[in-house]
Amino acid sequence: MRKNGIRTLEQLETYATITKDEKRKLKKIISAHPMLISPYYMGLIDWKDPDDPIRKIVVPSAQENLPQGSYDTSGERVNTKLRGLQHKYAQTALILTTNQCAAYCRHCFRKRLAGVVTDEIVTDWDLIVSYLKEHTEITNVLLSGGDPFTLPTQKIAEILHRLSEIDHLRFIRIGTRIPVVDPDRISNDTALLELFETYSRINKQLFIITQFNHPRELTPQSITSINKMHKANLVIRNQTVLLNGVNDIPEVLADLQTSLNSHGVIPYYVLQCRPVKKVKHIFQVPLMTASKIVEDARKRLDGPAKSFRFIMSHRTGKIEILGQMDGRMYFRYHQAKDQRYAGKLFSKKLDETDSWLTL
Ligand code: SF4
Repeated sequence: MRKNGIRTLEQLETYATITKDEKRKLKKIISAHPMLISPYYMGLIDWKDPDDPIRKIVVPSAQENLPQGSYDTSGERVNTKLRGLQHKYAQTALILTTNQCAAYCRHCFRKRLAGVVTDEIVTDWDLIVSYLKEHTEITNVLLSGGDPFTLPTQKIAEILHRLSEIDHLRFIRIGTRIPVVDPDRISNDTALLELFETYSRINKQLFIITQFNHPRELTPQSITSINKMHKANLVIRNQTVLLNGVNDIPEVLADLQTSLNSHGVIPYYVLQCRPVKKVKHIFQVPLMTASKIVEDARKRLDGPAKSFRFIMSHRTGKIEILGQMDGRMYFRYHQAKDQRYAGKLFSKKLDETDSWLTL
């Protein structure tokens, strides 16, 4: 577990005023879903602005109490084949390497396991490797969690070493917010950077999937970590989660994609925020509004910056949100759990308040 970082309300009170009532509510909230904010990310918050977007991402709100929603919005339990391994799409295995992060995002769709006791994290890598070897249809692995870069470098080396011995794996992806919330973890670790270089050049192409959600997250430090990863032959792609009060303004969303692209981070997905239990009312933007925001953002972008897809990561697959016409919203399966739906187009009449699809 990370030693430094803001974890308690007493620490938080040195930055912000918290009323007695809020404190009582927040105590309960963070006992279920812990608060952790890295000192670096804490430094990005403008405390004079109560609606600061960075603050909204990591500082818990006393409103995180809605019983509706789900802790498993994408059907991860059903897709779990072994402890720590999910196999939803034939070609991809998703591995939950840790339940730790350098900062806990309040909108996290894995709130059920981030920073709390869980039985979903890999404990036996032998079993994982055997499964991957048996399933020759798997061409790639996505290392996720939690944040894999909270693991010791030695552990990351072991994992990459074991995966690189599996011939039919073509590439490895690592999903991480470390370049956003603790970029020096990467920039100052020469052993980690050498490891990237070795595995990307000699063994398997490594992809880093970041989650930058606001242009202010692209600081000189985070850009340094990006540059160092590029130098180590990594391909970096970004998934932005569309978040109410954070990036739901076309100019902000466009600025983020342009800035990412200008630093060689490929805009990959903009994700519709999932209906996460306790917080969906805080972070979700209704689909009709969301698609207009994304379209308005696209109008401001050049080709490479708008290369992302607007995606709903649904229980049934990755559904691209194409846009609306004549009062209907149009969708297409970008990835389908059931291959019969792969590439399928469909439309739905939505209410102004609908934020997710029930299929
Ligand atoms: S870093 Fe990722 S896993 Fe961790 S809390 Fe944020 S979104 Fe969730």
